[in-house]
Amino acid sequence: MIRRILITLSFICATFVLGTNEPAAPKAAIDPLECCWTFGNHEPVSMYHRAGKRVTGGIEGSALWLEDWHGWFDSEASTKLMQELGLNMLHSRFYKGMGWQFESRDFPNVKRFVENCHKHNIRALAYVQFSTLYYETMLAEIPDLADWASVDENGNKRTYHGAYYRWLPCYNSPAFEAYLKKMISIALNEGSFDGIMFDNCDAPACYCPRCVTLFREYLAREQNPEHKFGIPTVAHVQPPPPQRPEYGEIKDPIYQQWILFRCERVTSLYRRLYQHTKSCKPTAIFSGNIQNIRRANMAGRDSLNMADLADCFDIFVSQSGNAPGITGGCIINRVRELKLARALGTPILALCDEDAGVTAEAEAKYILPLMEDTVFGGIPTDRTVIKPDRKMVSPELVAFRRPLLRRFNETVRAGREGLAATGYAPVQLLYSNESMLFSEQAHHAVLSAEEILLRNHVPFALLPASAAKPLAIPADCEVLLVCDQRCLSEAEVDTLVQFARRGGKLIVTGESGAYDPLYRQRRDNPLVKGLENCSSAICRSTADLAPIKSAAWTIKVAAPENGGKRLMADLAKTWSPILRIQAPAIVFAEVKRNDKKFYVHLVNYAGEPVARGIRIEFSEKDFGTPECTFAAPMENKPATSIIAKGIDTGWREIELPAFTEYAVVNIEAGHKVKLPAASRGTSRQ
Ligand SMILES: [Zn+2]
Repeated sequence: MIRRILITLSFICATFVLGTNEPAAPKAAIDPLECCWTFGNHEPVSMYHRAGKRVTGGIEGSALWLEDWHGWFDSEASTKLMQELGLNMLHSRFYKGMGWQFESRDFPNVKRFVENCHKHNIRALAYVQFSTLYYETMLAEIPDLADWASVDENGNKRTYHGAYYRWLPCYNSPAFEAYLKKMISIALNEGSFDGIMFDNCDAPACYCPRCVTLFREYLAREQNPEHKFGIPTVAHVQPPPPQRPEYGEIKDPIYQQWILFRCERVTSLYRRLYQHTKSCKPTAIFSGNIQNIRRANMAGRDSLNMADLADCFDIFVSQSGNAPGITGGCIINRVRELKLARALGTPILALCDEDAGVTAEAEAKYILPLMEDTVFGGIPTDRTVIKPDRKMVSPELVAFRRPLLRRFNETVRAGREGLAATGYAPVQLLYSNESMLFSEQAHHAVLSAEEILLRNHVPFALLPASAAKPLAIPADCEVLLVCDQRCLSEAEVDTLVQFARRGGKLIVTGESGAYDPLYRQRRDNPLVKGLENCSSAICRSTADLAPIKSAAWTIKVAAPENGGKRLMADLAKTWSPILRIQAPAIVFAEVKRNDKKFYVHLVNYAGEPVARGIRIEFSEKDFGTPECTFAAPMENKPATSIIAKGIDTGWREIELPAFTEYAVVNIEAGHKVKLPAASRGTSRQ
């Protein structure tokens, strides 16, 4: 049965977007468990042919059969197949950046495809390329196109990953913005698309004269430049060249402003495009590929500040190399991206460029990302089943995936109660925006703490914090970790101190609080000082670090030193969990709950099955003698009861059978015990 997408809009109140006077258009409410995304044919034939070489989908760009394939794709054959497979959302080709005068020739075919999508209950978002001006075609339409182009620090036009025929745009070009708005209007008003998907939303620094002037105007807002930058006037400041190292500890005040300026300009551009989309069609979905949202230095490198962008997109598309599995001792996963998106209240399509194929190992490789999405809150995706093929669609691939998708859809349908339950996150990890902007050490510390919590199966969530906004610590946060988050505002520090003084458990490591939001050193650390003699807080000057092999396209974090024992010992000192999960490090757990039950979802990242013997322990005070069931629905193992045995004083445990990729344990408290109420999201502060 095909799962329907429920997209509703809440008009309860018109909120105001921080920093603008425009009311924020309400975000589309999207339930990831109702979605299964696939890739439409999102590139025009001309893109392939102009490239010639192997490009999107691993296809020879110059292949002579691509027109035939496009013809097949635009017919009802493709959309009918998608519906049969349970795929119900996609992005479709619409505008690649070659100029509408040229690309509109293909528009009748695109419109026909969108109609076919709707006939088969599939939502179609219009692909709009942000990062390219194909000047070879576009100059005929826009003679002054050069004025729209981005310029590097040497005055040369930037190109898209070195493709000499694709200029990058300047994100401060008003004419470029107007053109994008025109494309949005056409897609939604004439093309009957259900929304927009901007691709390649990253924006490397532009040094064109317009950007230099705007940057100086931005700096001139500062009333006391001598105090802030050490110089009495900013009139002759030049935008800083790229820094080496690219990230590191960013303390040059003008370079900091260069980052903040670019992020502000790019965020406000996307906010206007979002508003324009909603003004064309209030129900439209606005999404964008903002790259791996957990990549190091996204602000400095690509002018993208995730903390602010959540207001500008209905869906984050986060593209990375984080195809789940084990590589060189690192457990590659997208849990970090999914947890940040959840904390920012934005659904996420986390693409990981995995093409499992139909090999012997393919089944586990295919199921793992689907289940990771489903468990941790992403939109499940089959990227490649409808990819271009000389037979139009690969019969082998379809035959291989059809039963897997059927089983997956059935797993989600039958397990919906436990998958849709509220995340249980007694432990929270502070994710300070300014620390992420300016400190690689702070980024490293968060990646490391997450690795320790994931490998030790501690249920946790990220708690985003921004100097410009009040920090609200959720009422269900039992322990808050502040791991080397250096750049905190006085208000943030006050909130943390008050939290601990009122009995909240707080673990503070590294140089957290030692600097202000602009990474300027304080005379005394107000966080450490405020927590002196506070029995519910632990402060130590060393942070917990795991070896980071990569924090870029793919995030690779190796096993933490000593298994993260020091942080786990600090947790044990301050906090008594009500359940404990004893499992191999390569199994990640996500715990969800409602007022009646807990659901422990387990995802195995190893290529081989997990042996019998994972144990879940419960405190008798909270669970009594619980009723437990175990299921591995992707392996056709339905829910069966497991008896909880008494172990140490006050604790019971269950032992789980073996499973391959995914298992779920439902836990209902014994008759005489009432579980602590599930949080309704109220704030302690
Ligand atoms: Zn520019």
